[in-house]
Amino acid sequence: MSDKKFASQADLAEKKVSFDQLSDHAYAYTAEGDPNTGVVIGDDAVMVIDAQATPVMAQDVLRHIRTVTDKPVKYVMLSHYHAVRVLGASGFGAEHVIASRDTYDLIAERGEADMKSEIERFPRLFRAVESVPGLTWPTLVFQGHMTLWLGTLRVEIMQLGRGHTKGDTVVWLPEDRVLFSGDLVEYGATPYTGDAYLTDWPATLDALAALRPAKLVPGRGASLKTPDEVAAGIAGTRAFISDMFASVKRGVASGKDLRSVYRETYAALAPKYGQWVIFDHCLPFDVSRAYDECGVHRDPRIWTAQRDKELWQALEG
Ligand SMILES: [Zn+2]
Repeated sequence: MSDKKFASQADLAEKKVSFDQLSDHAYAYTAEGDPNTGVVIGDDAVMVIDAQATPVMAQDVLRHIRTVTDKPVKYVMLSHYHAVRVLGASGFGAEHVIASRDTYDLIAERGEADMKSEIERFPRLFRAVESVPGLTWPTLVFQGHMTLWLGTLRVEIMQLGRGHTKGDTVVWLPEDRVLFSGDLVEYGATPYTGDAYLTDWPATLDALAALRPAKLVPGRGASLKTPDEVAAGIAGTRAFISDMFASVKRGVASGKDLRSVYRETYAALAPKYGQWVIFDHCLPFDVSRAYDECGVHRDPRIWTAQRDKELWQALEG
């Protein structure tokens, strides 16, 4: 395993973008497993859900939006704090950036470290990184739940529980039954759990499934366009999380060190999940967080560019 390039540094092939209409109001900008952006078009304004990594990349989303509407993008909603989804926000020129209080707190606490960490992990995903003006600061911060009316269109913005991060927020269009899940659900892409609450995540997936979405836009991967596809996306995410966490718990219970637990978990999961995008990238960080959660670290520790490299060396070196 020692010839693996750090994180996603070997991933340089551009992905093909799809822009799918899911309902009268909902669109999904997806790119073969790269981070997705959701689009909600109301009577008088557009809301974007997750902003892409840079303002230059946001321009490509805007170009797609302009093929279906000329209404202004008034809101950018952040499903969580990760740099690869938030640093492009300024590219939309929106009036407001919406986030949960927990996401706001994470940006304040660790946004700077996360930006440096993610830029090194995913060089391809930060195209024109020099266009990033700095951290993205929310201008509308809510706790738990808020309802936004885009004219007559009701948009429910909700924290259904912790999972991928402390601040996870989903967007639900109750009339259209379309859900934008952020990284709480992935499809054909490996869930990143380096900042996760693995104990809580399954109950949050239950809450998400209880909405009975007809369609779902995951954080990564193709949009899910039928209730069966939605169920498969949620089940696949749940299976990965529980298989990974169970393997780490077994290793910790038998007193093994992180490197041994990582090797065993990698071997156990690769046959089932190894074909999902960013599997090799995520697994060291996923196992490290799971190992921490079994111990004294109830909250995820801050990743820095330095800590990333040390972990990679310890597990893959
Ligand atoms: Zn994320």
